[in-house]
Amino acid sequence: MTALELISLANQVLFVGLFVAVLWHAMRQPTRASVNTLLLFGSIAVVVVLARLATAFSLNETGWYSSTILVALSVAPLAMVRLVDDFSGTPRWVQVVGLVAFGVVAALSIFAFAAVEQIVELAVIAWFLLVGGYAAYAFAREATRTHGITRRRMTAVALGALLFIAAVIIAFVNVLLPTPMLGMIGPLLALGAVIAFFLGFAPPSWIRRAWREPDLRHFLERSIHLSALEDERRALVEVQEAAAAAFGATGARIGIAGTQLGTLRYPSAMGGWVEYRDDEFIAGQAYSRQERIVSLDASRADPEHASVYQSAAANTVIAAPITAEERRIGVLVIFAERAPIFIEDDLWLIELLAGQIAVLLDARTLATLAADIRSREEAARLKEEFLSAAAHDLRTPLTVVLGQAELLERRMARDPNAPVDAAGVTRIAREARRLRDLVSELLDAQRLEQGSAIMDPADSDLGEVIRAVHERFRDHGLDLRMTMPEQPITSRVDRMRLEQVLDNLVENALKYTANGELPELVLEAGGATEARLRVIDHGVGIPEDEHERIFERFYRASNVQSITDTGMGLGLYICRRTVEAHGGRIWVEPTPGGGSTFVVSLPALAAAQPETTTVVPPAVQVPTREAAADA
Ligand code: ADP
Repeated sequence: MTALELISLANQVLFVGLFVAVLWHAMRQPTRASVNTLLLFGSIAVVVVLARLATAFSLNETGWYSSTILVALSVAPLAMVRLVDDFSGTPRWVQVVGLVAFGVVAALSIFAFAAVEQIVELAVIAWFLLVGGYAAYAFAREATRTHGITRRRMTAVALGALLFIAAVIIAFVNVLLPTPMLGMIGPLLALGAVIAFFLGFAPPSWIRRAWREPDLRHFLERSIHLSALEDERRALVEVQEAAAAAFGATGARIGIAGTQLGTLRYPSAMGGWVEYRDDEFIAGQAYSRQERIVSLDASRADPEHASVYQSAAANTVIAAPITAEERRIGVLVIFAERAPIFIEDDLWLIELLAGQIAVLLDARTLATLAADIRSREEAARLKEEFLSAAAHDLRTPLTVVLGQAELLERRMARDPNAPVDAAGVTRIAREARRLRDLVSELLDAQRLEQGSAIMDPADSDLGEVIRAVHERFRDHGLDLRMTMPEQPITSRVDRMRLEQVLDNLVENALKYTANGELPELVLEAGGATEARLRVIDHGVGIPEDEHERIFERFYRASNVQSITDTGMGLGLYICRRTVEAHGGRIWVEPTPGGGSTFVVSLPALAAAQPETTTVVPPAVQVPTREAAADA
């Protein structure tokens, strides 16, 4: 056997094998496209078998044999034209012209072959060249319009069609003008054609896997964030888009259990959700029956919603239920203008994606559940912390008040006319004030937490705010140093709340300065639209890594716990919430040389020049710890 004969034999075996493969496929999924594919390879298989028989029984010379071969061969371009229509749609007249042309070629082959053999052969060449060429072009055009594995298979089909036509034409030319060169090229082209057709119409599973891989990876990459995205609707829209892209489809929808029993809700194109009965639409049927549904003509299958399908150009609809271990989660629908070219790939893919979406939605539900539990635990923990902090901090002054009051009571019982114990009464009043302050702090924190702290903003001169704070402390014998700009700085603030913030910062500065050195108040412009208030102390300072944490509720820095236990760790939390409610910021910086500087930055209405002038000379006064606590 020569190499040429070997190639011819391989071609014949492969073409017959391909016919068997598409026959098997058409029997399992009898669509119009699979029947037309069968027609294409059936015609070629018939030609191959006839050629074999002819060699075996020397039929080559008989007229009817040649006519039969020509008619069978001419079916191939007709099948191609029909396939083009299945894959991309063609005007009706193309189909009609194709059919008529086929009729003419077939009639010529049957009735005129014996008389005008060469003319009939030329007619067959023309038929192949024109119609087959058109089909090959249309396949190639369709390939550029699709995506993923479909595009690759379409490209292979287009290439196969091109090579096949070339092979047939060369074979005819070789009959008319025999040349050894053409005799070699023809079978080689046919071999290329049958391999390309195999890849297009019946690719082996390893090739299919390799071709699908990029689409799947792309889908996974896009949808992996689904479980983390907070907005459920946006998350679903993302996955819908990824699924449609993976299919190369017009669009995709995911329906999940609705707010009412027996409904499915879909993310709406306009934003928000649309809710339908869970057996409405083809999607609903797939969901309620828990089976995959393929509809190549959606409007006919579900006439009630024909207008919806038409407006979405959804002629073909494939729907698959999304389930996780028997649990019904929802439904995935893919729709497209025309039937998917290689539907078996799409069916496989839709089930895979539905499974993947089930996993993602499940993970999402779990994540939400876990976050819910965490936030409840956090709330419970805060409540507990709050109660124990409150109980602990209220108990100390309460014990003093009660102890002193009982002492007075006993004294009065012993000697009703004894002079009043002025120091005892003062102590009771002082501790009662502390109690009141602690209780207001607790209430403030709670109100701020609920976002209901009353704010009464008005344009205020910040210099005056500082002066008011300064005066209050001076009344207690604490003459703080104060630095202010010459130009007034105005800001829209709730004066009472801002004074409370500054009071708090000054009290802290006094509390956390062991040697009694007084803190300093500074007001300055931080540019044209910002005012900065600083409370500078030279106290114990705050460890750098706790600069942020001290603004948390109940947080007390590690270096002060042994110094004083009068704090609840709520003051700075209240300060921060209040300043932020004014559109400002508060933070702490180390004071050069030791201590802390708290900075409150607020939006200013009219900022002063940046240079500052000392208005009140520094008072070097060392307060007693009692006075500081009273303040
Ligand atoms: P507390 O009631 O404990 O003072 P705050 O919320 O006012 O609560 O302050 C939280 C923590 O920040 C304090 O416990 C302390 O550790 C630290 N802190 C606040 N102000 C100062 C300061 N001026 N110097 C040093 N540490 C401070």
